[in-house]
Amino acid sequence: MNRELRETIIAGNWKMNLLASEVKAYSEELLPLAKDFHNWCKTVVCTPYTSLTEAVRAFGDTHVSVGAQNMSQNDSGAFTGEVSGAQLKDIGVRFVILGHSERREMYGETDELVNKKTVAALQCSLRPIVCVGESLKQRELGVTYDLAAIQIKAALSGISAEDLRSVVIAYEPIWAIGTGRTATPEDAQDVCREIRTILWSLYDEKTAEAISILYGGSMNDKNAFDLLAQPDIDGGLIGGASLKPVSFAAIINAANQ
Ligand code: PEP
Repeated sequence: MNRELRETIIAGNWKMNLLASEVKAYSEELLPLAKDFHNWCKTVVCTPYTSLTEAVRAFGDTHVSVGAQNMSQNDSGAFTGEVSGAQLKDIGVRFVILGHSERREMYGETDELVNKKTVAALQCSLRPIVCVGESLKQRELGVTYDLAAIQIKAALSGISAEDLRSVVIAYEPIWAIGTGRTATPEDAQDVCREIRTILWSLYDEKTAEAISILYGGSMNDKNAFDLLAQPDIDGGLIGGASLKPVSFAAIINAANQ
């Protein structure tokens, strides 16, 4: 982390877990555990759509922001089952995860679609958390950096340097998500540094240095400190370990050290 240059962000991705009726108890357990969590670190809880309103209510007066896990690229209209950025913003949502590998793999989301969603999110003043990362096969083929460049360039196409300041990038190697297998701090740092270099080539040094780049992939209370100690890792996107307030708080506290 480099706290002088950029925000530290710890974002939980609940995926399709927990009920709206469980949010209040979650927040009541998390808030006292996450010591000094407002000092350095912005905390985000990305819940299923059904829990968003409850989460906005539960975390309302605290420093925890609420995020969604997806949104439509369209503003409104005949898109059954979809939710727009304006609808999320309207209920108090501040962040939205876009291009998560599970959406790319299971729902066919392309780089082009991730770009459309990123543009749409920014138009609604939502902060996109744009996910990129390679599969195990791609890593073994040695194309990790090339893929990061392709995904980043595509996702950010047409986005100005000013708008980029609202964007958060999450480097999530697919082989580390939900597997218990974490990238080493050095490997994660190398790719996050490369992502910053890509941002530099697309924009400029000052802009690239100001963007928060998160690591995601089996981050937990045991490995968080070493990952977050890397100079280009500005926080985490956390799946499994964000479901229990006690383990999520431990990661928030690691970021606050
Ligand atoms: C994720 O879903 O973005 C993620 C990183 O999951 P996990 O922490 O469970 O690997």
